[in-house]
Amino acid sequence: MKITRVRAVGLSDPVPFERRHRTDLGTKVKSDATLIFVETDTGLCGMGACLGTPPVIAAIVEHELAFELIGEDPFFSERLFEKMYNGSRSQPALERGVAQAETSRRSGMVMEAISGLDIAIWDLKAKALGIPLYQAIGAARQSVRAYASGGWAPGAEAEAEMGGYAAKGFSAVKMRVVGREGFSIDHCVQRVEAARRGIGPSVELMVDAHASLETPVAIEIARALTPFRIAWFEEPVSPDNPWGMAEVRRSTSIPIASGEREFSRFGFRNLLEHRAIDIAQPDVARAGGITEIRRISALTSAFDIRLAPHAWGCGVLFAASLHVALSAVNCHILEVSQGYMPMMNELFNEPYDIRNGRVFAPDAPGLGFTLRADALERFQYVDGPEYTF
Ligand SMILES: [Mg+2]
Repeated sequence: MKITRVRAVGLSDPVPFERRHRTDLGTKVKSDATLIFVETDTGLCGMGACLGTPPVIAAIVEHELAFELIGEDPFFSERLFEKMYNGSRSQPALERGVAQAETSRRSGMVMEAISGLDIAIWDLKAKALGIPLYQAIGAARQSVRAYASGGWAPGAEAEAEMGGYAAKGFSAVKMRVVGREGFSIDHCVQRVEAARRGIGPSVELMVDAHASLETPVAIEIARALTPFRIAWFEEPVSPDNPWGMAEVRRSTSIPIASGEREFSRFGFRNLLEHRAIDIAQPDVARAGGITEIRRISALTSAFDIRLAPHAWGCGVLFAASLHVALSAVNCHILEVSQGYMPMMNELFNEPYDIRNGRVFAPDAPGLGFTLRADALERFQYVDGPEYTF
């Protein structure tokens, strides 16, 4: 089997005015995604998806990375990842056994493009084998515990919002503890108190600060939230401040989670070296696709660090994250977004199998989901930023 063509198609999903919510990132007006199609001489086509700005991603994919893939056998997926990562030095890099990365490919939107292509290559391999992707990677489980990821409601409304997720059967829920309405520790504590009231004593509660706090404030919040039994405190400080994150971690018994903004295993090695995290949250569409996330899983497991894949974006990315969660031995839970996301929930013909707070494996080969006939037309790309401030 040989790769013959690589295509990238930008998508957008405008958020209706009444569903727009304000967060610390601004007001979300649309969601973007780029679908990736890797075609072969056998007629089989692999599908992936990318984060990043669609026209930029499409240019990187079609005018740069495609040249590393065309004519290659998708079963040489490790080699293909290294070709995309190392660029013109990929041959000596593989001969010598050391990475010799092309500078611009180590991180940023180029690594997001590499990630999406790698997902498509794995989809292709699993389809060629006629088995679901998690089995092609090596299956660890047939279902994984899920957590409802939401928690934007202000003040006491957090009780009803978070309680609603628990009522849907989730045994773990996550809420944001920073917002646009002016941050204060007191307000944060009130909201978490309301959330705990809403979900009762036994549902796990996680909090996410979106990497936005100063270290002393994060330490203070961890102290104030300890009575509410927090399952993890996510991104208390910037990912560029692993020293601060480690300080927060040393100050509290609440586990620290981070990693959604890290690129490649080298980004995670940095967090591990700083002893900054208890839970690693690689995003399959940013950290380097299935190939690199397997390396991150092995690396973190050697430090007794558990994996909770970050899963945000279109359905292809959720499906890829699910297969990661079903195959990574140190994964204990998967994120299931509760935001307004038609591109996650209405992209495929097949529904996700989410029951009793767990996500179950799809049976079909590859990612296990097929695009609806009208998907590309319905979610046509609209130029402009995803957030307005
Ligand atoms: Mg987060």
